[in-house]
Amino acid sequence: MKGVDEKLAPMIAEVLSRNAGEGEFHQAVQEVLDSLTRVIAKRPDYLNDALLERICEPERQIIFRVPWIDDKGQVQVNRGFRVQFNSALGPYKGGIRFHPSVTLGTIKFLGFEQTFKNALTGMPIGGGKGGSDFNPRGRSNGEIMRFCQSFMTELHRHLGEYTDVPAGDIGVGGREIGYMFGQYKRLTNRYEAGVLTGKALVYGGSRARTEATGYGAVYFVERMLQSRGDSVEGKRVVVSGSGNVAIYTIEKIREFGGIVVACSDSNGFVVDEAGIDLDLVKDIKEVRRARIAEYAEIKKSARYVERGHGSIWDVPCQIAMPSATQNELTDKGARSLVANGVLVVGEGANMPSTPEAVRVFKEAGVLFAPGKAANAGGVATSALEMQQNASRDSWTFEQTETRLASIMRNIHDTCAQTAEEYGEPGDYVLGANIAGFVRVAEAMRALGVI
Ligand code: NDP
Repeated sequence: MKGVDEKLAPMIAEVLSRNAGEGEFHQAVQEVLDSLTRVIAKRPDYLNDALLERICEPERQIIFRVPWIDDKGQVQVNRGFRVQFNSALGPYKGGIRFHPSVTLGTIKFLGFEQTFKNALTGMPIGGGKGGSDFNPRGRSNGEIMRFCQSFMTELHRHLGEYTDVPAGDIGVGGREIGYMFGQYKRLTNRYEAGVLTGKALVYGGSRARTEATGYGAVYFVERMLQSRGDSVEGKRVVVSGSGNVAIYTIEKIREFGGIVVACSDSNGFVVDEAGIDLDLVKDIKEVRRARIAEYAEIKKSARYVERGHGSIWDVPCQIAMPSATQNELTDKGARSLVANGVLVVGEGANMPSTPEAVRVFKEAGVLFAPGKAANAGGVATSALEMQQNASRDSWTFEQTETRLASIMRNIHDTCAQTAEEYGEPGDYVLGANIAGFVRVAEAMRALGVI
């Protein structure tokens, strides 16, 4: 494939230099384009019409000021972003993240990943992502509401159920979606339920959306294991994070008979050999919005390890599900997991494993499910929420979860079959990148040079 690499290399170099300083975006682009060598060898026509260059260039990037007033009456200013990456397959679709680490590069990497993830679901949704460097930690309910209202006051002019449909992500859950939807409705004087997903049931949300990303990731891992004659049942599992994705990953792992022994937040992690008490985690994180350290104060079977004094990836397990944030699992963590006999790594978060960590898993023959495939259940269920909104319908939990399970099976099988077709059976990274790319590329070509 030397000839292909020679053609792709200058193109990758050009993308990196056009987006200087955006390390996470570089990482995401590099990973996808590296996987394309095998596609280009079979289909050199994908190099025509600057198709790859266009796929790496967002259709539109919006950056805006978000002024708001805190509880002391002081004016605060944050920066808002929405990157509308690719709408070849449908309206832009992707979450909004509120975290102080958010930069344009973060949102571009997430929007790029989202484009291929959404394609993998087989549903009519394009890719986008948004967010702000606003830090919700320690902010009162009133401050959160005023921030969300100000954020939406600018963003609303770029949204619409046929244009761009955001959802939640880190720091944005049901409460924030509610405040943003309320402001959108007020500004537009339209009850356009399909403009945001992740809504509460009472005003047009879908059952199982809250659970969907975590549940979907576990369905994916179960399918991987089943295809090798194994299952989640009886396995020791470590899940990082304790937010939306982590909580519902833990819930579904338990339903499948696995035992989750550790979870974390950004301050540290807890290990509970008796199995993580999910009701307690939900109370700490969803109700009281407190720190995971409290878990070990309440549960005597648990120990807490503060950040910097150990790694959650040193806790022995057979299944690891990184579900907090990007690049949280490095080669050191990966080597530790492998040394302790990990069989499967399923990414609940977006790009939580560094490229070096992925290499360690590959070399050790660990089954590895990349986030763009394994965590696609969230956006797929958002698309089901859009379907329900469009038809003024509301499905039961069972109906929605059955659809989710079937979508995850399809995504798994598509990735597995694509990897096999391209000569790398078992390489889900390659399978996901190629299958997602081909769908987006085919749609873009059909639409002409736009
Ligand atoms: P939440 O805000 O609900 O939870 C995030 C969790 O990760 C919290 O426990 C948080 O700890 C921890 N965390 C966040 N940032 C860091 C950091 N820099 N270092 C260590 N820990 C951190 O977010 P979600 O659960 O929704 O999202 C988690 C991941 O899943 C993200 O990568 C997101 O993009 C991805 N994802 C989410 C989807 C969804 O439907 N929500 C869909 C697909 C992917 P603390 O409480 O201390 O902040």
